[in-house]
Amino acid sequence: MSEPETRTAEEPDTAVPSRRPGRERGRDDGKFGRYGGQYVPEALMPAIEELTDAYERYVLANEDGFMDEFRERLADFGGRPTPLQRADRLSERYDRDIYLKREDLVHGGAHKLNNALGQVLLAKYMGKERIIAETGAGQHGTATAMAAAHLGMPCEIYMGERDINRQRPNVFRMKLNGSEVNPVIAGRGTLKEAISETMRDWATTVENTHYVIGSVVGPHPFPVMVRDFQAVISEEARAQSIEKTGDLPSDVVACAGGGSNTMGAFATFVDDEAVDLHAVEAGGSTLEVDEEAGVAPNSASLYAGEEGVLHGARTKLLQDSDGQIMESHSISSGLDYAGVGPELAYLVDEGRVNPVAVDDDAALEGFHRLSRTEGIIPALETAHAFGFLEEHHEELGERVVVNVSGRGDKDLDAAIEETDKRDIEGAPDMSMFTGGI
Ligand SMILES: *Cc1c(COP(=O)(O)O)cnc(C)c1O
Repeated sequence: MSEPETRTAEEPDTAVPSRRPGRERGRDDGKFGRYGGQYVPEALMPAIEELTDAYERYVLANEDGFMDEFRERLADFGGRPTPLQRADRLSERYDRDIYLKREDLVHGGAHKLNNALGQVLLAKYMGKERIIAETGAGQHGTATAMAAAHLGMPCEIYMGERDINRQRPNVFRMKLNGSEVNPVIAGRGTLKEAISETMRDWATTVENTHYVIGSVVGPHPFPVMVRDFQAVISEEARAQSIEKTGDLPSDVVACAGGGSNTMGAFATFVDDEAVDLHAVEAGGSTLEVDEEAGVAPNSASLYAGEEGVLHGARTKLLQDSDGQIMESHSISSGLDYAGVGPELAYLVDEGRVNPVAVDDDAALEGFHRLSRTEGIIPALETAHAFGFLEEHHEELGERVVVNVSGRGDKDLDAAIEETDKRDIEGAPDMSMFTGGI
């Protein structure tokens, strides 16, 4: 005789939900409470409307089997699904189960391909013939160039002149993948100017061109669309957690720059009140802000930011009292951004997501700790999540999932330089790396 099917209220839903909990917000009008929206010049409105229509048809309604092809390419080209791995030494150290969601194993070494592949494929379904993107440190440009080469689409990447000189391996990677890299000379020659230049290009080329934005930022539909492409992280993690532990995680931890790996790791857990969500920002060297100098020595826009409009959306920003965007700072270039995605700002205001800042020192210690104890060298962005674990583990529940957003190969030069400045327990003797022998 078979057991009757009974379920208690506490029993987690074991299926990957078809309703996709946590993914309804912002869907129709792009508003997350007071945040989000479409603050773009008139010339870009047709492009935004066309993209919204394509998002609704192909991503939400799976027209022409778009999402099926996306999943298949994520698997075959991207190497998904990524494992949910128990970290034995960290579990012992913190006296609770620590699980790692291994986005560092995605092709290209980070979660960024999930979004780039989704958007370049969408552009193809829309009949576009050209891809443009902007990049700061080069990680998003590299992911976009890879996706464009994979799908046979011509691609141009705008990059500040100063960033080009600082990030030569990434510039070379983009060119190896057949993309053009357009130097932007204006202003300080960094991400901000590159974004303006890409917007200008798009305004005159919308007919045949798609602009791939690299995080859950920008005007609607980018924040929801990028979240939905990255949600594969938590769709997998949810099913894997149930399979391995019989339950949902107690906590999910992810670092937050613009917030795309964050929203991707949180998406299917947002409606599960029992799962605590922690967004770890770059606390930089200090959370003190020098208003006079217009400089924030951190990138903690959830913690220290104020409401304003940046890159087409209302959100939390690092700005001075005149509303000027401040220069941000972080040891990790990928978190070094003055804004944050509007949905994440909203979820923090609602009390659903816990924002925590972790400073450069704690992040670098996290980088060394994960490398030494688990054999995984994380990106410096990701390392902030491990700094959080060290500082806040006592406040966490029994099963913690940490999203390992990327691997650290790209950061080795920076890690040598930053480690040499500090006295870090268990770090290699730096003299042989910095000319001391
Ligand atoms: C770009 C990047 C980030 C920050 O971007 P989000 O949109 O906040 O996820 C974090 N980790 C890695 C490895 C990155 O490359």
